[in-house]
Amino acid sequence: KLSDRLEAVANNIPQGARLADIGSDHAYLPCHVVRKGIVPMAIAGEVAQGPFQSAIDQVKEEKLTDKISVRKGDGLEVIEPGEVDCITIAGMGGTLISTILEKGKSKLEGVSRLVLQPNVGSFAVRRWLIDNGWELIKEEILEEDRKIYEILVAEKGEPLKPYQQMNLDSGILFGPFLLKEQSAVFQDKWNAEKRNWERILKQLDEAVQNDDTESKRQELKAKLKMAEEA
Ligand code: SAM
Repeated sequence: KLSDRLEAVANNIPQGARLADIGSDHAYLPCHVVRKGIVPMAIAGEVAQGPFQSAIDQVKEEKLTDKISVRKGDGLEVIEPGEVDCITIAGMGGTLISTILEKGKSKLEGVSRLVLQPNVGSFAVRRWLIDNGWELIKEEILEEDRKIYEILVAEKGEPLKPYQQMNLDSGILFGPFLLKEQSAVFQDKWNAEKRNWERILKQLDEAVQNDDTESKRQELKAKLKMAEEA
């Protein structure tokens, strides 16, 4: 059985899509969706030897070697242009996810859907999507084992469409769909963040004042203002 987090990622993979799961570790996600018949084939990409070997072992154990190709490499370099329709990247920071997409841009032609699950820093992913012509079509937020996860689903389209009628910076930080939905998990997440920012701000107020602490203070104050408005 998959974790709720990976199950939520899996549920956003279109039926019949050819899939690449980048940073696949044990390849649990591709194995699950191939076994369920959601996708006919998948590529599991991994940059690190240990997780790469785990993926190979898992695919063999589940007797899926004819349908899942496990490949070692950095980000999207493991796929050929036009080889897949959907890419999933889950369980890493938002900055790393956007770096992988940026470096692998040339491989995205022909890809119709991205399902991205940043553990932290989802704003970096939203920023990248906007700058590169991808429109967020859905967001989910969920809590599992006392951690909060966000899932971002994007397709080629009008990148600014979901941000209409809202402050763009707030939309990028909180997520346009999540901001509108205001779920209990969303409120828990940002109330905790707010308390954290207030704590840091208090420490900065007590610290020696210089340009660095001042710019950090301004940044935190701006974020607190956005959180209060949200
Ligand atoms: N996707 C799985 C999940 O969500 O449960 C595994 C997440 S695991 C925490 C992150 C994996 O990404 C690690 O196995 C790591 O080796 C891999 N990774 C990190 N940077 C990568 C890159 N540039 N290309 C491919 N894999 C990468």
